[in-house]
Amino acid sequence: MPASSQTRPRLLRQMNERSVVRVLQQHGPCSRADMTRKLGVTAPTISKAVSSLLRGRLLEEFDSKQDGVGRPARQLRLATETAQVIGVVIDAQHCHLVSAGLDGQLLSESLCQFETPKTYRGLISKVVKCFEQLTGGRGLEPLGIETLGLGISMPGLIDYRQQKGLLSPNVPITNGQSLARDLTERLGIDCVMLQEAHSLCLAQHHYGESRGIDNFVMLDIGAGLGMGVMAGGRVLTGHSGLAGELGHLPRVSNGRACGCGKRGCLETVSCDSALAWLVSQRIGRTVGIDEIVQLTQTGELSVEDEIEQVLPHLSFAISAVISLYNPSKIFICGRMFDLHEGLFEKLLSEVAASTLAPAFADCEIVRASVSKSQGAVAGIIEYLTDSLVPGVDGLFARTKDSSSEPSAETKSRLTTK
Ligand SMILES: [Zn+2]
Repeated sequence: MPASSQTRPRLLRQMNERSVVRVLQQHGPCSRADMTRKLGVTAPTISKAVSSLLRGRLLEEFDSKQDGVGRPARQLRLATETAQVIGVVIDAQHCHLVSAGLDGQLLSESLCQFETPKTYRGLISKVVKCFEQLTGGRGLEPLGIETLGLGISMPGLIDYRQQKGLLSPNVPITNGQSLARDLTERLGIDCVMLQEAHSLCLAQHHYGESRGIDNFVMLDIGAGLGMGVMAGGRVLTGHSGLAGELGHLPRVSNGRACGCGKRGCLETVSCDSALAWLVSQRIGRTVGIDEIVQLTQTGELSVEDEIEQVLPHLSFAISAVISLYNPSKIFICGRMFDLHEGLFEKLLSEVAASTLAPAFADCEIVRASVSKSQGAVAGIIEYLTDSLVPGVDGLFARTKDSSSEPSAETKSRLTTK
């Protein structure tokens, strides 16, 4: 018998499980009967998929409260009371950890933050310490909440096949390191790294206001200019995960040095940190975007000149994105537009002036409503649910020599059925 005929039933079962997860992600809790109707498959098929996911602790059952008479219907939801995941956000200045249910909702009381350490070893030990604080150590907490995995949102280039940081202009201590592999060894759970703009894409896709939109672009204009492209419902990664590095296109000939080693990159002139650099030069001390926003709002500082310099470059970047990808929406994540009302509209009119009219008319540009914490959490949930159908063409598509194989524990949880 050819191998494909043997593996097909298993793959089909896994695809059914994945569909169940997707329905719960998109529509929230529902009963087995609702699920059967929504997916258009038979009740036994749903029952089998649900049982397997319950055993894997990805789902929970609960009784819905009904006003009428009769037994309350058993409802299914993504696990929130018996299992959790951890999100780690690594940024140039600060890092933080949060915990969340499998529904992606952050647990508000869970936040552990620290200044970005100067060394990679320092980073590992800080993350481990925070992890222990949030989970009460490995495995089961006293409350019986199992930690299933940890997602890491980080800036820079990441090779997804190797789960390795290649080049991070803003957090160079991660260059050449596999934070995911090293944390998996220390913590004994699945850990996965995501480029921060990709993680924001996943968060927007699963948990943002416009969840379910399959073609959009996320622009992170904070410390650098990061881009994530959601095309046909999948994050566009390119051959090895490096697609979308808009920020390092050359923009100013012989311009300011960029963290990547080149000069005049688009991100040196078009984002929050570019604005902060210009303002710092003028006032003679280093200020970050948060302080600039605060001083501008109290009237102690005006940064109109610097905005005039930055906005055309940002507008160029957005025009390029519209022409290249024809997204239905562009979400922009950054603080610059908190400087004053009307700045976002000003950007939009500049973009309109420099973009092909039909493409601009077809694209809505809005500020992003999701955070990097949600992105890190969305990343590990995507990884855990992607494990249901290994080898598919997704963000975590696994290759034979990949170190991003799910841990033995996850494999047994998901495949022992
Ligand atoms: Zn650069």
